[in-house]
Parts: sequence; C-alpha cells; structure tokens
Amino acid sequence: MMDPFRLDGEVALITGGGTGLGLAMARSLAGAGARVVLAGRREVVLRQAAEEIGPACNYEVFDVTQLEQAADLVDKVRSREGRLSILINNAGIHLKRPAIETTEEDFLRVLNTHLLGAHAITRHAARGMLAEGRGCVLFVASMAALFGIPYVVAYTAAKSGLVGMVRALATELSPHGVRVNAIAPGWIRTDMLRHLDTDPERKEKILSRTPMRCFGEPEDIGNAAVYLCSPAARFVTGTVLTVDGGASIGF
Ligand code: NDP
Repeated sequence: MMDPFRLDGEVALITGGGTGLGLAMARSLAGAGARVVLAGRREVVLRQAAEEIGPACNYEVFDVTQLEQAADLVDKVRSREGRLSILINNAGIHLKRPAIETTEEDFLRVLNTHLLGAHAITRHAARGMLAEGRGCVLFVASMAALFGIPYVVAYTAAKSGLVGMVRALATELSPHGVRVNAIAPGWIRTDMLRHLDTDPERKEKILSRTPMRCFGEPEDIGNAAVYLCSPAARFVTGTVLTVDGGASIGF
C-alpha cells in the first residue's frame, strides 16, 4: 500500500532553508523522499546545510526582498530540478522593539521579508503548479498572528498578513489542485529563541502558558510540514496548523 506521508518525486523550494526551522523542514522533507532546494542569503550556511542533507538537496543564494528576481529563482529551480511542486515560505526576520520606537523603515523591512518576499515567489511558483494542476504552498506563521504579544508590532502585522494570504490564496488556487496552508509554530528551540537565555522572566511566562510546559524542537515543525505537503493532507487547505504544545489555547 502507498504510504500517504511519502513525498517521492516532489521538488520543494524552502526559503530560509539553511538554518533553524527551514533546515528542519528540509531534513524532514528529504527524509520523506522529496528533493529540496534551500534558498537564503548566506552561501556558506546553505552549502553546509545542503552537504549535511546529502544528494537530495541543492541550494540557491537568494534574497527574498529582491522581488524582481523571484521569477528567475523559480525558473532556475524548475529547469534544474525538472519541476517545483512544493514551496515553503519560511524566510523571516524578527524585530523586538516597542511600537512607539518602531520606525517606518523597520516596519517595511519586516513586511518586505515576510509578506512581499513570500508573495513574489508564490506567484511565480503557482503559475507552474496551476499548469500542472497540483502543488502545495506552505507559509510559516507565528503565535504572534494568533494573540497579542508586546514589542513585536511589525512582526505581528507581517505574520497576521500571512495568515490572511493563506486564506485568500487557498480560495484562488485550490480549485485548481494547489493547496495552501500555514504552520504556526509555538516557541521552538532555534537561534531566534537564544535571547530567552538572558530573559528568565519571559521564558517562564512562555512556559507557564504552554500546557506541555516545554519548548518545541525544530523537527516538530519538520514533521508537520511533511504532513501538510503530503497526500495525507490532500483535503486540507486554507488552514493554520498550530504546533505549539498548546500555547495558543493555554491559560
Ligand atoms: P532563523 O533565523 O534560523 O531562520 C531565518 C532564515 O531566514 C535564515 O535561514 C535566513 O537566512 C533566512 N532569511 C532571512 N531574511 C532573508 C532574506 N531576505 N532572504 C532570504 N532568506 C532570508 O530562525 P527560525 O528558523 O526560527 O525562523 C524561521 C521562520 O519561522 C521565520 O519565518 C520565523 O518568523 C518563524 N518562526 C519561528 C519561531 C521559533 O520559535 N523559532 C516561532 C514562530 C515562527 P540568511 O540570513 O542566510 O538569509
């Protein structure tokens, strides 16, 4: 019997795939049989990640804020790998700053990376997926898109925007076989959480509202990505899957 969680024959482009959650998703997708292409700005990081994953993995140096180059990236992946059937919009930057100190420049930098960058690649990748009548687009949202968190106004706006994009894209693309979903990770042990080592109060606040009383591991997000991109989720679109130890429903 076919394993519905396998991704053999699929080709996935993962932005920000060289580190943290992107790398974890790349490892998990490759483990499930997909070929993966990592995109990010630092070649050294990407090369190292691709070498670790092995022959199923390639990379492209790419800055998602270079919106006009998104079509070239998609064309390159398609011509080298033969297809592009999964896109994971994961690249992101964090910005912790009080709202009254967040400048327009800060705000635009965050929006450009998370929202416009993701949209530019998605619209080019979706053309090919629509032509094939199948495909999967995944976004990485955040707890900040689900409830209020202080000092992250630009990040929250960007991640909330992504959740809206998931719904709009699902209504537009899913009638033609392309599924669009998001994962909302809770607090996961990556470099983005390193600041908690020097902020025990915040760390305790997070853990106290998380029913499972622990942080997540990057592979928790990798496994969720495999599910959402696989035939096991063939009837799932327009949704945001929280992978958060219950943080979003904790009291
Ligand atoms: P990392 O900082 O490890 O990952 C961010 C990745 O994005 C890096 O690989 C970085 O590579 C890439 N990136 C950033 N800017 C750009 C750009 N302009 N162009 C291309 N690539 C870019 O953190 P995480 O793995 O934690 O974060 C991954 C995603 O998960 C982000 O969207 C983040 O918001 C989200 N997230 C993380 C959570 C967590 O607990 N860790 C919780 C909720 C959401 P490079 O610098 O080489 O370009």
